[in-house]
Amino acid sequence: MSLREFLEECRRRGEVVEETGRVSAVLEAARLLARYDGGPVVILRDVDDKNIPVASGICGSRDRVYRALGVDKDTYYVAVRDAIRSPLEPKIVEEAPIKELELGYKLSSLPVLKYYELDGGPYITGGVVIARDVDEGYQNASIHRLMVAGEDRLLIRMVPRHLYAMYRKAERKGEELRVAIVIGVHPAILFAASCSPPLGVDELWVANKLLRGKLTVTRSPELELLVPSEAEILIEGVIKPGERGLEGPFMDITETYDEVREQPVIRVLKIYARRSPIYHAILPAGSEHKLLMGMPKEASIWEAVSYVVPKVKAVRLTPGGFNWLHAVVSIEKQWDGDGKNAILAAFTGHPSLKHVVVVGHQVDVDNPVEVEKAIALNVQGDEDLVIISGCRGSSLDPSSLKKGVTCKVGVDATPPLQPHKANNSKLSPHYRCVAGHED
Ligand code: MN
Repeated sequence: MSLREFLEECRRRGEVVEETGRVSAVLEAARLLARYDGGPVVILRDVDDKNIPVASGICGSRDRVYRALGVDKDTYYVAVRDAIRSPLEPKIVEEAPIKELELGYKLSSLPVLKYYELDGGPYITGGVVIARDVDEGYQNASIHRLMVAGEDRLLIRMVPRHLYAMYRKAERKGEELRVAIVIGVHPAILFAASCSPPLGVDELWVANKLLRGKLTVTRSPELELLVPSEAEILIEGVIKPGERGLEGPFMDITETYDEVREQPVIRVLKIYARRSPIYHAILPAGSEHKLLMGMPKEASIWEAVSYVVPKVKAVRLTPGGFNWLHAVVSIEKQWDGDGKNAILAAFTGHPSLKHVVVVGHQVDVDNPVEVEKAIALNVQGDEDLVIISGCRGSSLDPSSLKKGVTCKVGVDATPPLQPHKANNSKLSPHYRCVAGHED
């Protein structure tokens, strides 16, 4: 299951546009990608004459992500939950396309884009970083932004999650952490690498489950990490203990610049590729970035709310909340108070979530006007709000005074089980529509 096959399918559906004119990797390419954001897959044939086409927007629409996972918008949540609960070990193969070429690449051979004016440098944004725990041998795969900081140096932004824990463990032992970075993989791999299964669960196994056992992996030539055998580009490198450099600024999902920080350094050893490789670039703050970060969280919110409310119809991290800070959850209410429990559960399902609106099951979570109507008709501000101050939230929220600490607000806009007294005699069509009462 390769990126190429997926792009072929997109092409057959008329979802690919190709730009053949030469563009600069510095800002110009990104501006062109932004023009198509949220639409088709874009392929830039000529970026600085590097002879490697740049593909972008592969996961830039919900429907393409669903298609890549072989699900639809309703079966999606259960498929993701099952893949995380029961991941499947991929088959290991010896011969693999990713080992076809060792081109003696330097990082400067790759069409790495600088996206925005104040970015700290060119960034690899579509790279899945694979590492093995130095003691226990399990692998981890996650997407990290990688700033090019020299011919053979990358600065890697590591938020304190799994890779960070593995790196710190190696560092405490005075050992280096070996990493393989793959660029140009099937979207199911990107999606799985964006999920948060527990530490010790290899995201490539999650991807293989999502791909129904069709993923194969191979040992990377030098470091023997298991990598997708049909990846387009493979970078092997090491993170040495104690080595840091300044990473950032970088335009993040909230369309604001993330700050400069000291981050670990990856020393690049070798770069491999398939024949005629394709480079995948994710436009920062574009829809592909937002959907890859947000969609797995919709599945985890769905699971968390499902524990407290029997029927969760849909969960959306909405575009107005950058697919990260705001959610709408639609539920089939069975008890008074279900709406409030759903609010509390939603916050546990996605710790960066700041505001959530819970609505009845007949409200279309993708339609902000319907959501607002549900708020208009069902909410009493002194009864239906849940306000929790001093919570751990998103470090990207610029309005929080203490970084990463935020006030969370939930709005219970579910219709009452019994119609509002004032409406008993004559229900408005909107009330029927959003409240879901047939009486
Ligand atoms: Mn992990």
